[in-house]
Amino acid sequence: MSYSAPKFKEKYGNFINGKFQDPIDGAYFENHSPVDNKLLAKYPRSNEKDVKSAIEAANNAKHEWGKTSASERAAILHKIADVIHENLETFAQMETADNGKSIRETMNADVPLAVDHFRYFASAIRAEEGSATELNENTLSLIINEPLGVVAQIIPWNFPLLMLAWKVAPALASGNCVVLKPAEQTPASATFLAEKIADLLPPGVFNVIHGFGPEAGKPLASSPNVDKVAFTGETTTGQLIMQYASKNLHPVTMELGGKSPNVFFNSIMDHDDAFLDKCIEGAVLFAFNQGEVCTAPSRILIQEDIYDEFIKRVIERTKAIKMGNPFEESTMMGAQASSDQHQKILEYIKIGKDEGAEVLAGGGAAKLDGDLANGFYIQPTILKGHNKMRVFQEEIFGPVVAVCTFKDEAEAIEIANDTMYGLGAGVWTRDAHQLYQIPRAIKAGRVWVNCYHDYPAHAPFGGYKKSGFGRENHLMMLNHYRQSKNMLISYDKNKLGFF
Ligand code: NAD
Repeated sequence: MSYSAPKFKEKYGNFINGKFQDPIDGAYFENHSPVDNKLLAKYPRSNEKDVKSAIEAANNAKHEWGKTSASERAAILHKIADVIHENLETFAQMETADNGKSIRETMNADVPLAVDHFRYFASAIRAEEGSATELNENTLSLIINEPLGVVAQIIPWNFPLLMLAWKVAPALASGNCVVLKPAEQTPASATFLAEKIADLLPPGVFNVIHGFGPEAGKPLASSPNVDKVAFTGETTTGQLIMQYASKNLHPVTMELGGKSPNVFFNSIMDHDDAFLDKCIEGAVLFAFNQGEVCTAPSRILIQEDIYDEFIKRVIERTKAIKMGNPFEESTMMGAQASSDQHQKILEYIKIGKDEGAEVLAGGGAAKLDGDLANGFYIQPTILKGHNKMRVFQEEIFGPVVAVCTFKDEAEAIEIANDTMYGLGAGVWTRDAHQLYQIPRAIKAGRVWVNCYHDYPAHAPFGGYKKSGFGRENHLMMLNHYRQSKNMLISYDKNKLGFF
């Protein structure tokens, strides 16, 4: 089966009030594919005026939409899931063209997971039970969940459709209207989805505004006319978004960066080959999605006494990763998402070398032939050093892993927690004590044990420390998109007796 970039129109509009609209001041930006740097399409370079118009549309729609029943909204969410499922191949090719990631990932992970997120929240919103408590024989306490109203959502480029699904599905399920700003690097799938679901939702319930962070994202996050801001992106951008939202005292949820440790204990060597093979694959997952994953296991910690043998096999497996045209099914690693990202990763590899890190694999740009020579490719790179180096402390967001050793459990925990981030972590062990105690001691919102990079819709996900707050996925997400009203109802006919 061969895949390619789908046909794009020359230019697209913002999706506001159920229709595609040209940007008010007529400005567009070009979107190029990182696969070969060819122009894909032009999108609106929106400004405050476009953002205002989308927020107005959402505010006009929020009363009626907020009154719909959970089952009505669930039915629509299921239809959205159906639309994505029916167009799976187009979405997958679009994501590969736009982001550079391999078709094997977009077809098998990103798009099916997005479908599942809409289905999960469609079901979750109906499965909830109400809450009524009799406080005493004459008084009833009712807790009622109400939508917030209009939610501003700003997302990154690394999983364009999936990040949309993580944000949009629970927000709509809870009865909110949405104004979404996709990343300027990957505007395609949100636009295609809007086109495909235009008839499923009342006008104004779902709006998409394209453009750059300071020009379109800032007025969206600063607007007094939204009721919440949900953000996924870099920690430094998250700090700005919080400042904007704080002027209006709007609630925010923050899904930010990471520098996740992946810890390998010596007991992994004592067992069967199949398990050891799984561990090696777990270490090499630093290159999954070109390392452009917030939870990328970008620090590998290996117990001293197994280091030589284990790293030898990790290096072999890393060198066997098939890089190349992301549209080919056998390709494991495609292009980095943009020229800027490519440059940033190369600079970090240089920083690592200058700091004295030893290059165990890769170490530079990957040169491909033909049209791909204009794309943005990096060799999967392993750097050996120590945890105080910048390549161990700063998020590179590329296929670059920093490796060090540890003596015992105490040192493993110390190194794992020696970071400002706390998003993900991996622990690999066959020791029953370690497989509970080490994850408990690591300060991160998600710890995978003997696995990694699994993101089911029904497991909560989010950060500790500077990786953010609030959670995505799971039932608990619904509470980030609602406010609870408590009604105290008295059946007592007697006077209150205060005055
Ligand atoms: P980014 O912060 O540069 O951009 C994210 C979004 O914010 C984009 O839509 C961008 O246009 C917008 N933006 C940028 N500046 C803005 C501003 N001043 N005001 C308003 N909006 C602004 O992040 P990125 O480079 O797109 O994504 C990579 C980052 O996202 C990494 O740090 C990664 O770890 C993080 N991430 C986190 C999670 C998570 O769940 N924790 C998931 C995916 C990615």
